[in-house]
Amino acid sequence: MTQTPDLSAALNREQANEELFALLRLPSVSADPTRTGDMAATAEFLRAKLGGLGFTARTEATAGHPIVYAERLNAPGKPTVLIYGHYDVQPEAPLEEWVTPPFEPTIRDGRIYARGSTDDKGQSYAHVMGVELLLSQGELPVNVKFLLEGEEEIGSPNLEPYVRDHADELKADVIVISDGSRFGPEIPSITYGLRGISYVEIHVQGASRDLHSGSYGGAAPNPINALAQIITRLKDDQGRVTIPGFYDGIDELTDAERQMWADLPHSDAAFAASIGVSALPGEAGYTTLERLWGRPTLDVNGIWGGYQGEGSKTVIAAKAGAKVSMRLVPGQDPERVTRLITEYVPTLAPEGTTATVHPLHGGRPFKFDLNSPYNHAANRALHRVYGRDAVFTRAGGGIPIVAAFNDLLRAPVLFVDMGLNEDALHSPNESFAVNDYHNGILTSAYLLQELGAPNTGE
Ligand SMILES: [Zn+2]
Repeated sequence: MTQTPDLSAALNREQANEELFALLRLPSVSADPTRTGDMAATAEFLRAKLGGLGFTARTEATAGHPIVYAERLNAPGKPTVLIYGHYDVQPEAPLEEWVTPPFEPTIRDGRIYARGSTDDKGQSYAHVMGVELLLSQGELPVNVKFLLEGEEEIGSPNLEPYVRDHADELKADVIVISDGSRFGPEIPSITYGLRGISYVEIHVQGASRDLHSGSYGGAAPNPINALAQIITRLKDDQGRVTIPGFYDGIDELTDAERQMWADLPHSDAAFAASIGVSALPGEAGYTTLERLWGRPTLDVNGIWGGYQGEGSKTVIAAKAGAKVSMRLVPGQDPERVTRLITEYVPTLAPEGTTATVHPLHGGRPFKFDLNSPYNHAANRALHRVYGRDAVFTRAGGGIPIVAAFNDLLRAPVLFVDMGLNEDALHSPNESFAVNDYHNGILTSAYLLQELGAPNTGE
């Protein structure tokens, strides 16, 4: 452990709150074309703040909303840390469900209520305040770069080209992202893996036109029935995906990982209750957390065919279709999985029908070294704030920009989340616990100290 002063006493919590409130008052809804000016004002707010802290800071126009980039490289020989965050927020609708207005931040019961309070203004500004806290004590212990985008909530269309064009400038030893939820209250966590995805449509064709179900029923092939058969054959009764080769090459969960997750305070009953179901069906032989974080799966996300209007229409449809997502784990390649399902589904088409697969998009899975010096540094930082070790979890979803960071910057990503699922990200009455915000600031400051300590970054 490094010996560094306790920063908690040096944190000006009132100032930290006031500044975040000012940021939250700016309605930076990236999806709303009437708020282009607010987006630019929010970017400028962050640029000015970082500039005021002695960073070389600029906003850069993109084809959409500006990117804020800032750097302070005064720690020669020390690691460089790139902090990524986003200043845009989800639309506030439905407005009538907010107890207090979404862009008038209000503290109730120890929580800051405002759109963007946790996702991601609160979490990314905690890093800005963490840097300010360190600067109040002296020079930063590492080189720090901030990359704050304004289009995360609309799919980051301009970020990858920006990262590609500025790969040298953005070069870093580690990338820190705080844009998610911790495992639970009082429990610090570090996310070290993300699932990938392969997303396809299945199209089934029967007759050349819709048919009268009386004149043709019993003789003509029915593509909706055929689609249903195909879908049920994509998984067996053990919850395993049946596509040949689907599981080939998977990084199996280690005993240590399985034990680590088994030790987490997770309740299947509470999880089931939280989504209003009585059971959690899935792949046999794996726990719920293993199925969510460490195993691939396949789900139908949408389905169509035939008559869907009021009342009845006696028809055998000519075609039917479904949207299918496959969540992938490390060792699986989305392109390969897409090819496998594309080859397999046609073989399942019942007589008289044809089935084809149409790929939509893919995303790679990621797993970062559990034992990296960065994870150890983050754990030490979190320990100082929460008084206990972090738990190491993975996420069931993905973050598309991580692939670009990994490919273009060749740096590992450290996910240090500060919020909680109960913060209601993307929902009305989004909030961020005041304590979580302040703990986030301290976490950021201690993390930078730990990353600059001589025993990390090698
Ligand atoms: Zn976010």
